[in-house]
Amino acid sequence: MNSTWELDSWKNFPAAQQPDWPEQAEYDAVLKEMSTYPALVYINEIKELQAALSLAAQGKAFLLQAGDCAESFTDHSAQTIRNKLKVILQMAVVLTYSTGVPVIKVGRIAGQYAKPRSSPTEKYGDLELPAFRGHIVNSEQFDLASRTPDPKRMIHAYHQSGSTLNLIRSLTQGGFADLSKVHTWTQEFVRSSSEGQRYEAVAFEIERALRFMAACGIDLSKEQVLQQVKFWTSHESLLLGYESALTRQDPGSGKWYDLSAHSIWIGERTRNLNGAHIEFASGIANPLGCKIGPTTTKDQILEICEKLNPDRIPGRLTLISRMGANKITEVLPPLVSAVKDEGHPVLWACDPMHGNTFNAAGTGLKTRRFNEILLELQGFFEVHKSLNSWPGGVHIELTGEDVTECLGGAEEIFEHELDINYNSICDPRLNGRQSLDLAYRIAEMLI
Ligand code: PEP
Ligand code: MN
Repeated sequence: MNSTWELDSWKNFPAAQQPDWPEQAEYDAVLKEMSTYPALVYINEIKELQAALSLAAQGKAFLLQAGDCAESFTDHSAQTIRNKLKVILQMAVVLTYSTGVPVIKVGRIAGQYAKPRSSPTEKYGDLELPAFRGHIVNSEQFDLASRTPDPKRMIHAYHQSGSTLNLIRSLTQGGFADLSKVHTWTQEFVRSSSEGQRYEAVAFEIERALRFMAACGIDLSKEQVLQQVKFWTSHESLLLGYESALTRQDPGSGKWYDLSAHSIWIGERTRNLNGAHIEFASGIANPLGCKIGPTTTKDQILEICEKLNPDRIPGRLTLISRMGANKITEVLPPLVSAVKDEGHPVLWACDPMHGNTFNAAGTGLKTRRFNEILLELQGFFEVHKSLNSWPGGVHIELTGEDVTECLGGAEEIFEHELDINYNSICDPRLNGRQSLDLAYRIAEMLI
C-alpha cells in the first residue's frame, strides 16, 4: 500500500471530472454529515469478494459485472431492481451451466450514479449549461436549476443505494435466487423469444438434475449454496468527496475500506497516473477495477499495476479493457504481454460497450450494435487464448426492461425503432433478450 496515503491525500492531486459545486460550505456540510452515516457494505463481505476475484485472477472463476450505465433517482422501483437481478442471474446460470466455471456476480448497482463527461458544458441553440453528471450531482433536464450541481443529491444517492442493497440482500438470501426457481426468472417479453426458449431448456435440465439429486437422497433444503446467491455491488469511483466520506478504517487490521460498495473502479477519463482518483484508490483495500482504453501505453499500464497493486495480490486489480471492436486485436496483445512479463497478477475483463458507442443518424440517440459488442468480445477471447492468458470476465451495461437502446440481436432492433422505448439517462443498455443472447455467445467463446 501507498505509505504516504491518508484519507484526504487525494486532495493534493488534480481531480478530473468533479462538479463545480455552487456553495463550498454546503458541500462540506453534506460530506461531514455523510462521514457519520452507517456503512453500506461490510468489511468481511469485501474480503470475501477479494478472495473470489483472486480465484478468477488464477483462471478458476469468471467475473460477470453488469448493470446500468447510470442508475436513476426517478426510475427507482422494486420491479426494475428485481428485473435487473433476474437477467444477471439468468446470464450467470447460462455461463455456469455451459462452461462449468463458477461465475462471480457483481452489479453496477446500488451506487452507480456519477458520470464522467467528455465536455463540462452542453449547448442547445444559444443556451450553454453545465453537463449532466448523473443524478448524484444534477438532473438531465435542460434548464439552469436542474443542471446546477446540488450536494444534497449525494445524501439521496446514499439512501437510494441503501434501499437498493436492502432489496438485493433479501432477494438473494431469501429464496428468490433458489436454483429450483430458475424458471421464474424469465420475464414475459423474453419467454417467447429464441433466447428465452433456449434458456427454458437449460432451466428444465437444471430442475431435472435437482430432482435427480433429491431422488438419490440428497437433502437439497440443507444445501445453502443452492438457495442463496452471492451478489456484490460496484460503481465508478468518480466523486472523491462522496467516496472518502464513506471510507472507514478497519480497527482490526488498520486498513481503510470504501464502504459505499464492495468494489469500485476508475474510469477511462480519470485514470491519470498523477491524479486524485488513482491516489485515493491506491490506499483502500477494496478490490479495484481500472478501465483501459485504446490509447493506453505499456508504461502506463505497468505503472497502474504498480500503483494500485504494489503487493501483487491476485484479484486486487481488474483491468477492464474497452478498446472498440476494430482496435482490440491490435491494441490489447502488447498490453497483456507487458503485464504478464512483469508478473502482475491482474484479472482481465472486457467491457465491449464503451468503445462501440455512436449516435444514430436519424434520431441522434446514443447506441451500440450488438454485432460490434460481440466482435469486441471475440477479439478479447482470441487475444487471451493466443497469449495463454485467462479472459477472466466481462463488464456489460444492461437492464432487465424491454428497452430499445442497442441495435441488433436475435430479434433485431433497427435504427428507426430506437425511440420506441429508449429510457437510459446515459449510455445505451442491452435489454433482457439481448443480454441472454450475449450470455450464450460468451459461454461459447469461453469453452
Ligand atoms: C462507464 O462505465 O459508464 C464509463 C463511463 O466507462 P469509461 O470510463 O470506460 O468510458
Ligand atoms: Mn456507460
